[in-house]
Amino acid sequence: MIFICIVQYLLYGPFLAKFIHSMYWKESMEDIWCLHILVLCALRGLVHQLWSTYSNMLYLNRTRRVSQQGIDYEQIDHEWDWDNFLILQAIVGSFVYLNFPSLVNLPLWDVRGLISCLILHIGISEPLFYWMHRLLHSSHLFPLYHWHHHESKITHPFTAGHATFLEHLLLCVVIGIPTLGTAFIGYGSIIVMYSYILAFDFLRCLGHSNVEIIPHCLYQRVPLLRYVIYCPTYHSLHHQEMKTNFCLFMPLYDMLGNTLNTASWSLHKEISSRTSTDERAPDFVFLAHIVDIMSSMHAPFLFRSFSSGPFSTRLFLLPMWPFAFVVVLAMWLKTKTFLFSFYNIRGRLNQTWIVPRVGFQYFLPFAAEGINKLIEEAILRADRIGVKVISLAALNKCIRLTDSGFRQEKPSKLRNGI
Ligand SMILES: [Zn+2]
Ligand SMILES: [Zn+2]
Repeated sequence: MIFICIVQYLLYGPFLAKFIHSMYWKESMEDIWCLHILVLCALRGLVHQLWSTYSNMLYLNRTRRVSQQGIDYEQIDHEWDWDNFLILQAIVGSFVYLNFPSLVNLPLWDVRGLISCLILHIGISEPLFYWMHRLLHSSHLFPLYHWHHHESKITHPFTAGHATFLEHLLLCVVIGIPTLGTAFIGYGSIIVMYSYILAFDFLRCLGHSNVEIIPHCLYQRVPLLRYVIYCPTYHSLHHQEMKTNFCLFMPLYDMLGNTLNTASWSLHKEISSRTSTDERAPDFVFLAHIVDIMSSMHAPFLFRSFSSGPFSTRLFLLPMWPFAFVVVLAMWLKTKTFLFSFYNIRGRLNQTWIVPRVGFQYFLPFAAEGINKLIEEAILRADRIGVKVISLAALNKCIRLTDSGFRQEKPSKLRNGI
């Protein structure tokens, strides 16, 4: 299984081999483009990973989630190979470089390139994507291709990479027009090439993040902006209703094509103005803690695919252990209990809250009081917001029982659940 998961990354091998060969055997930089492709793929993967991390940090964004439903394991399985499109686009990029060797000698920066890239994007890529997307929703093409992307009802940054081979080839054309077009008219530069592709991925991830990060006041102050740049609410509506909001990044084209969902702005206002008081109180809370440093890296906001399976120690975790240890120590200084995950069962909302302390800290006599205080605050907060049942994980229960008792009166509603 692990072998199958990583074998596709061997396709990056020829890029590295070609670059090393020209560098050390030919002592020339003629194949520097191989290195650019590798670096660009790594940065694109990082953009998606950082968005995934943010999207899964429920303690930061729970109030502004567009869809309050969670992502199920089936969707995680469907989106497992979300990054394969990076390999495809790297291969397409290499064909372009081999056919047009002049692209190797691009200057570092040319301001004219930025302007022509924007013009080509707005004038050609945006309308091209809009019409291709509408075509992919036709009764003939949708069941053949685009249903795959729409399998994901609750969007996630990795959903952006979840599409069929044909759709990814079409996206190569959409990306290629502004980048290669700029290079062919003589204004191309390395910075514009990197910036456009990374900004493209950033905006695709933003649209699929399921977290409304664009404040309503921004659209209110500059009304035109809502037609220039879309928001996560806007694209989520496309995944839910499918007959509207087809644009790439600019709702202007939906307005011109008469496919703009009229509920987009009111829903955006409602979501971006939510506060913690609008939140639904969970019916059940499990108050957990971190078991050890290694298992702390099993959190969904680190590696979603890894965290979707049962925990086991993996080799790739070892280099990250020191970093995780520092983070855990930093949490000791100042962190409160936070929302870690949630799920719905038969209409009941169940949440897992984490006491940010690791197993070994529970056995340090000088740490007990602080941990107890965190548990007490979490229980009182649960009572305040109307949680019906709270359950404590093993060490949390243990430390509560050995403590002298609540500083305040035990909440009556929760007494039986503790
Ligand atoms: Zn989508
Ligand atoms: Zn669609």
